[in-house]
Amino acid sequence: MHDQVVPNTDKYRVGIGHDTHRLVSGRDLILGGVRIDHEVGLAGHSDADIVLHALTDAILGAASLGDIGDHFPDTDPAHAGRDSREFLQEAVRLVSAHSFSVVNADLIIHAQQPRLSSYKTAIREVIASLLNVGIDRVNVKAKTGEHVGPIGRCEAMSCHAVVLLRYNCSEDEI
Ligand code: MG
Repeated sequence: MHDQVVPNTDKYRVGIGHDTHRLVSGRDLILGGVRIDHEVGLAGHSDADIVLHALTDAILGAASLGDIGDHFPDTDPAHAGRDSREFLQEAVRLVSAHSFSVVNADLIIHAQQPRLSSYKTAIREVIASLLNVGIDRVNVKAKTGEHVGPIGRCEAMSCHAVVLLRYNCSEDEI
């Protein structure tokens, strides 16, 4: 686990995150902290929010702080059914402790159904609030699977996230 960040003089750091979960019946569908009206949901140890999991990994990655599994192992009963907003808040707290703040986040949600266009603003609002940034710093895109592969066959959903962090150093450190 990467528990030490080497002091750096880089003003910006980029991170990438990805997550995939299977779709099953009997589960709520939560994307970006927003409950989506759908007949199936994502399987997982926590609330299986692929959007917040990908985003948490992107933030941790940008600061070289490992990944979500390092910090919140799915073998730990304490994380069963857990609200993934807590994972993201903890990642933001961790990078803040290392003098980083979020500049912006860009996300792609891959889901064949349902159409997510009407949820995008709500998801952006939740994420902006969790990241302590304005909604103009959070972008959410939704893509179908074009009816091919596990996404297109409605067997799974996935999410990609890219995050930019700013290192809040004094000018003479740069
Ligand atoms: Mg996950």
